[in-house]
Amino acid sequence: MIKRSLKQIADMVSAQNDSSSFAETMITGVSIDSRKIEIGNLFIPFKGEHSDGHVYVEESIKKGASAALWQKDVPNPPTHLPILIVDNCLVALQELARNYRKQLNVKVVGITGSNGKTTTKDMTAGILSTRYKVQKTEGNYNNHIGLPLTVLGLNEDTEIAVLEMGMSGRGEIEFLTNLACPDAVVITNIGESHLLDLGSREGIADAKLEILQGLKEGGLAVLHGDEPLLMERIQAHKGSVRVETFGRNETNNIFPTEITQLDNGNRFKINASTTSFELPVLGTHNILNALASMLIANYFSIPFEKMNDGLAGIKLTNMRMELVEGEQGEKIINDAYNASPTSMMAAIELVSNLKGYEQKILVLGDMLELGPQEEQYHQQIGAAVNSDKVDLLFTYGNLGRQIANSARNVLGEERVFAFTNKASLIKELKRHVNKNTLILVKASRGMKLEEIVTSLQKK
Ligand code: ATP
Ligand code: MG
Repeated sequence: MIKRSLKQIADMVSAQNDSSSFAETMITGVSIDSRKIEIGNLFIPFKGEHSDGHVYVEESIKKGASAALWQKDVPNPPTHLPILIVDNCLVALQELARNYRKQLNVKVVGITGSNGKTTTKDMTAGILSTRYKVQKTEGNYNNHIGLPLTVLGLNEDTEIAVLEMGMSGRGEIEFLTNLACPDAVVITNIGESHLLDLGSREGIADAKLEILQGLKEGGLAVLHGDEPLLMERIQAHKGSVRVETFGRNETNNIFPTEITQLDNGNRFKINASTTSFELPVLGTHNILNALASMLIANYFSIPFEKMNDGLAGIKLTNMRMELVEGEQGEKIINDAYNASPTSMMAAIELVSNLKGYEQKILVLGDMLELGPQEEQYHQQIGAAVNSDKVDLLFTYGNLGRQIANSARNVLGEERVFAFTNKASLIKELKRHVNKNTLILVKASRGMKLEEIVTSLQKK
């Protein structure tokens, strides 16, 4: 993490007060939460509508923070403490990260896309760390606060940083990429999340492509080549960046062949190569995430045939296709982290194709933030359920009910259960489960469907 003297920090954030009496004080790391202060931290208080972090400045220094920032419109800065007065604390955090990144020798990989950012980030870091000192975004720290904090957490000797970049509207990725200045970037795909803010899939593609703006000249852009919106738009950048594509189509630089579904993941080959890769993660869409990661690792000189060790050790962040066991011995795929139409379809396809179960149950909830066509998106999911491959469907929530309504035409009345109360859903679900059952649990984050998983697991 960042280690600098207060004098150096003052320059990096353009501090406005004279802090020379504390100039040699050493700062180690940054914290925006006074409850999580560690010795030597710089505490950065944020002033929100309802709360003001400045009231914790004194306390955080007592707890061991070496210094704090102070926003100039907040009255009575404590002159006896090591503080740096800045125009705006959030902007100062971002400036500090921007300047620190410039001072580091690290190579940066930036990852964006509608689905699969965190997964691809974890996979990329997994493969790269077989050869390099790697740090990555923890959890989902992918926004205008999380990304600067991640950058400030980088160590001087880290060779490659794999950073997730998220967005909910135009200009956000542009900001993050200009801060992180990546050497290589990935756009995993273009989905439907944030349709509400961006209006169309074209709008989403343009927003994701903002990531190229911070990419260094001649750097690598890894794109989902099966997405025409990306392939059309990348033409304009071809002179200034190197483009490599992954996807199912054979026109891509890298595409999967001979896919075999395993109990806990996938085996596949790539292109005409003879090497078999084993990916300990379920879902064919995760093969695509792995391919993107493999292109990045190859850019950093790891030969494809040496990537199996990295793939074997991949640790995904929780609730993404996590396979757990319920109290009846049933298997549960906990994919409750999030959902969009693309990822919902991918998950249903996965369950439909998994072999070795006598009964398969889908537990699906609302997909949020889809805009005016939200009902249609849910109906399409219901219509896509294959009655030969799925036995029962449980839905949760008001939009979930639309999934149920259209699935009734496919599965029939008696195989579809719609709930708006979680306890009732769990009670009914438990009546149907046995040790040969596979259950998929998936919805948008706000629906908290992991509660269903937990209650199935409970003794
Ligand atoms: P967020 O925007 O919340 O940060 P993310 O882009 O980081 O999401 P992940 O956390 O990796 O995405 O995965 C979220 C969901 O998307 C999971 O449910 C996963 O099953 C699904 N998913 C992951 N990769 C893909 C993909 N390539 N195509 C479709 N769905 C995917
Ligand atoms: Mg994520």
